[in-house]
Amino acid sequence: MQTIRHFDPLKKMVNTLHGEGKRLALVPTMGALHAGHMALVTQAKALADHVIVSIFVNPIQFGPNEDLGRYPRQEVQDAALLNEAGVAALWLPDVATMYPQGFATSVSVARLGDGLCGAARPGHFDGVATVVAKLLTQVRPNLAVFGEKDWQQLAIIRRMVQDLNLDIEIVGAPIVRDGDGLALSSRNAYLSAEERSAALALPYGLQAAATQIEAGASVEPALDQAKQAILGAGFASVDYVALVDAASLEPLQTLDRQARILGAARIGTTRLIDNFPVRSKK
Ligand code: AMP
Repeated sequence: MQTIRHFDPLKKMVNTLHGEGKRLALVPTMGALHAGHMALVTQAKALADHVIVSIFVNPIQFGPNEDLGRYPRQEVQDAALLNEAGVAALWLPDVATMYPQGFATSVSVARLGDGLCGAARPGHFDGVATVVAKLLTQVRPNLAVFGEKDWQQLAIIRRMVQDLNLDIEIVGAPIVRDGDGLALSSRNAYLSAEERSAALALPYGLQAAATQIEAGASVEPALDQAKQAILGAGFASVDYVALVDAASLEPLQTLDRQARILGAARIGTTRLIDNFPVRSKK
């Protein structure tokens, strides 16, 4: 596996592979890789001839009081994992390469980024859309794989790629969970042992509400019950628990189409997110 830090060698490699008619997949990450990321790599390998993984802790998607400074960084370990997984290249630009002095452009996907995580993290999805647009332009993959763990992010990227006519297939990969049901996340490393066990209330609460709504329960009371269960387990606050249209992310009061239940809550100093499908029988 090549580790590439600058545009010239990246361009050279991508030109060579495209020249040979190879199908290229990109898996964008912020590193601190776990089995969730590696599942994206496996899916990418199945769909393309060569996989490029990017690791870039993107400063412009972090708010001023967020965890940019303490976000876990373990490049050597990550590179070893990717090498073992048969990845062709690790794209590892630094902040000055990605955002040189004078950088002035922002990509903003209207509406989809305003609510849910966007409400608690103003500017976050502009940061995400901007860096993903740049990564897709830099690597020019045929397809890119993103996790359903970040459902709102996936919906925003799909919209952006469609709106900008980027000829790149966006593939969503299912959420990988620990044996007990907690979604894998680089941020789980922040949790104390006590917080780690209380954190299960997030997936359990969301899944219980999803099951009730699928069985015909009223939406608002089911969402409230999930919030109370999450708070009761020891979360400090719930940013939101919402039932939304799976693609447009519009809030739903009734289950009249394919939907998703999404939640975000804070435990100690850590903010966790999760989501589940809610299947309409209609
Ligand atoms: P991150 O490094 O957190 O920015 O995540 C990079 C990519 O991995 C994103 O597309 C995430 O949605 C995806 N991802 C992170 N955790 C998981 C998980 N537990 N299951 C599936 N995909 C994940």
